Amino acid sequence: MKYIGAHVSASGGVENAPLNAHNIGANAFALFTKNQRQWVAAPLTKAGIAKFRENCEKFGFSPMQILPHDSYLINLGHPQEDGLNKSREAFLDEMQRCEQLGLNRLNFHPGSHLNMIDIDSCLRRISDSINIALEKTTGVTAVIENTAGQGSNLGHTFEQIAQIINYVEDKSRVGVCVDTCHSFAAGYDLSNDEGFKKAFDHFENVVGFKYLRGMHLNDAKKGLNSRVDRHDSIGAGLLGEQTFKILMKDSRFDNMPLILETPNEEIWRDEILQLREWEK
Ligand SMILES: [Zn+2]
Ligand SMILES: [Zn+2]
Repeated sequence: MKYIGAHVSASGGVENAPLNAHNIGANAFALFTKNQRQWVAAPLTKAGIAKFRENCEKFGFSPMQILPHDSYLINLGHPQEDGLNKSREAFLDEMQRCEQLGLNRLNFHPGSHLNMIDIDSCLRRISDSINIALEKTTGVTAVIENTAGQGSNLGHTFEQIAQIINYVEDKSRVGVCVDTCHSFAAGYDLSNDEGFKKAFDHFENVVGFKYLRGMHLNDAKKGLNSRVDRHDSIGAGLLGEQTFKILMKDSRFDNMPLILETPNEEIWRDEILQLREWEK
């Protein structure tokens, strides 16, 4: 079974996210559990948590269909002590929010070395940051997203992701989310059958599908290996429809949230319908 949705708004309260997802015909969704551009947010209220759970049940969303995303400010591989501590604190708060909401995974971008430390040290910091958060929480998996490799962002190769996982102590609570746009921008050509097969064979060999906990379905505005992160609507970019036709027929992507982060939210409902057509 394919669970398809989008990164919907939670404005007005987390309880609105399942409602917004239901309204576009989704059976999966992503959300921010706090304002993604601020370091600190008010704690979730008991009422908000109860309503979120109630709405999820009402509209048929179980935790395996939901992929919360953390704040963009967090850098778990931050080269400086202050920035690293602030990030680790904020990440723990995000993990705890997921815990409170009864969710079992949190999607995040691994981190950036900011040209101040080498790649290996930065990856090690990221693993350590994950270890700290996992030690203080239960039931929530830290889901590493592959990146486009823009600037000094790490996690653009499957090898780097494997290296982060390698130093995570509790391997049962670390996972991966593959973003199709980021993969293409990082040099994995998912636009045709051969390239798609090659990239995911490589993923299986280096990381392993057993770690896959979700996908971000985005077309790409910038070229193969451009290292630039610009999402496009499904079929409108340089990946094109074929990527998503292949993906929708591939059972390795069953039973996990498949999330649109495409730029035109007016057409999310149509994009979901189209994806479901290709699934048949
Ligand atoms: Zn993404
Ligand atoms: Zn992106």
